[in-house]
This record gives sequence, structure tokens and C-alpha cells, in this order.
Amino acid sequence: MLGSGQLGRMFAIAARRMGYRVHTFSPDQDTPTGQVADLEIVAAYEDLDAVRKFASGVSVVTFEFENVPTETAQAAESRAPVRPSGGILHTTQQRIREKAFLTSAGLAVTPYREIRSSEDLQSAVAELGCPAILKTAAFGYDGKGQVRVESPDRAEEAWSAIGRAEAVLEAFIDFEREISVVAARAADGTFVHYAPAENQHRRHILDVSVAPACVTESVARQAVEMARCVLEKLDVVGVLCVEFFVLRDGKLLINELAPRPHNSGHLTVDACVTSQFEQQLRAVCGLPLGSTTMHCPAAMVNILGDLWLSAEPDWPAACAFPEVKLHLYGKLAPRAGRKMGHLTALHRHAEAAYRMALAARDSLTHRHD
Ligand code: AMP
Repeated sequence: MLGSGQLGRMFAIAARRMGYRVHTFSPDQDTPTGQVADLEIVAAYEDLDAVRKFASGVSVVTFEFENVPTETAQAAESRAPVRPSGGILHTTQQRIREKAFLTSAGLAVTPYREIRSSEDLQSAVAELGCPAILKTAAFGYDGKGQVRVESPDRAEEAWSAIGRAEAVLEAFIDFEREISVVAARAADGTFVHYAPAENQHRRHILDVSVAPACVTESVARQAVEMARCVLEKLDVVGVLCVEFFVLRDGKLLINELAPRPHNSGHLTVDACVTSQFEQQLRAVCGLPLGSTTMHCPAAMVNILGDLWLSAEPDWPAACAFPEVKLHLYGKLAPRAGRKMGHLTALHRHAEAAYRMALAARDSLTHRHD
């Protein structure tokens, strides 16, 4: 596993349950993945000798962090199969390349312009109008490297706020809702997908996911077909998530891709026959894919470091909800905006699961109110 965060941790738990050994590689120590892996290798992604040595010690390499440099994936590929391939990482880790791929595949994306100069920015703002969202082309996640441009005269200031790096300006989409489809593809081309999840963000960070999403059958079918097209065209072997904006007329725009399990798929751990992490394991290790059937509708809420601001959250209070499952990632330092864990609530009505998940999260801090 290249990367050592919570996605790697949940992958490692699934892998160890099925008898695999897991080695993790990242620059950090005592990491969420390292705590449950057999071996935690601590080295810079740029240390290609260390990367080659790591890859020589395993049968297959995957990743949980798409900002792993392309050279790192290539060095690993010289010693072991990397799934999904380094080429997929290269396409999806940079917004301009990703949008160019999606457009060439005939898939609708948010209207955007490439920004490399002040002139680009001025003409993009004139064409797309305001508000608009300016995003760095590379190395953005959880809302980092994103700013809203409220008016044309604030555009330069917004670009400076993200370091005047190569960027895209996107039209602001007044969507009806956001959904995502987590899907998996095996080496023989077998494709499976989970029910679309509906996602709510707060400050550009995922806050709540509910599945199945409350969308028409036609929207759900269209989203799954678009996801299938992405996985096939990229020749993915592994898991990939497609995030969509659903417009008021039912049309779908792709917001972004993640070539790995996704935060909106965490509820599959408790709600589905095969979790997205076991599915990643099966795909990259050449096993048949598992059933994506949901036992029960579910809602997931993230637990961010903000909840620690006055005291340790009240874990027993959340555990007092019998249908709520607590997941903590073993991160040592809670910081505002940092994903520390999540709660998943299960109920035969998705709406009730949603309310239960929020109530369980509220209970974590009630004693401080
Ligand atoms: P991203 O990191 O690009 O997925 O953006 C995080 C979140 O910010 C999205 O899930 C949306 O809630 C919001 N967002 C991003 N881009 C846009 C846009 N062009 N129009 C409206 N909201 C957006």
C-alpha cells in the first residue's frame, strides 16, 4: 500500500482478515495504516530506491492516496504490478488531465477553463461568470487549494490565495444534490458497483453520505453507466469512485474521480456484503469480485478533529446507539478539518439512518453544550 491513511488502514483490516500480509509505504510513522500492517516502511515518496525495495518485497502494489508522485508509481511498477496502473494515477491526480480524459470519453463535466496566467483568469471569469470556483490543478484534496471567486475584481486575489499555481476555474453549479458511485473492475473486465450515495459537504469536506441516494431510477442508472464508462475507458483494475453533481433537470455532471475507495463508500463496511476495501483487495489480488448487495440502508457521518476542541469526544454516548458503528483511524493529533473517524448508522429507512447518524455524532459533544 502506497500511502498510510485511513483508506489504507481499512484496506489492511480487510486484507488481514482474509489472511494477506500488508506492507505500507509513506513518509510518516505510526500511521493509521502502519498500526495494522505487517510492515510500515518510512521513506519519502521521492526515494525511488526505497520504493523499488518496497515493491520487490510484495506481490502487488496499490495506493490509497492519489497524490503519490507518478515517478513513485513507475518505480514500483518496475518491480511489481501496480493496480490501478500508474497511468491512471497520472490522469486522475491533476484536474486538467482528468477533465480532458472525461471530455474525450464523451462524459459531461462542470464547465471549466484552464488557468496559467492573469489573462487566462480574466477571460475565464468573463466567460463563466461569478460566482465561480478556482481550484489548483494538482495536489488538492478535502477542499484544500480551492477558493470561491465572488466577483471579477476579486479573481486575482483568489488566485494568489492558492499560490498562483496552475489551476482550473469552474462555473459555480447550483446543483440539486451531489451523489457518488463507487465501482470496481477486475482484471478480466468484470464490473460491479454499489448503490449511488448522496453526499453533503461542509466547508468543501464530505460531512454526510447516505445510501441508497434519494434519486430517480433513471438518474441512478445514468450515474452507474457513466461510472462503468470511466472504469472501462481507463482500464481500471481496482476501485474507483465517481462524484457527480445532479442538476435540477436530472442531468449529471462529473465533478471528480478518485481511483481508490472513497469516503462516501465507508458505509459499505457495515451495510454491504462486500466492503469497498475488500473489493479493492479482491480486484488488485486477482480474486473474483464480491457481492455489493446492501443488507440495509445506511448513513455515514465524518468525525473531524474539530470535535476535540474542548475535550475528548464522548465515545460511550455514540456507542449507546445500538445500530451505530464507530470507526476511529488511530490518528495521534486531532486537528480542525482532519478526518479522525466516522460513524455509520443502519436503519431500514435511509432517512431514519441519516437522523440517527447525526444524533450519534451530536451525542459525542453533548456533555460540553
Ligand atoms: P471537490 O474537491 O472538487 O470535490 O470539491 C468539494 C466540494 O465543493 C464539492 O463536493 C461541492 O460540494 C463543492 N464544489 C466544488 N466545485 C463546485 C462547483 N463547480 N460548483 C458548486 N460547488 C462546488
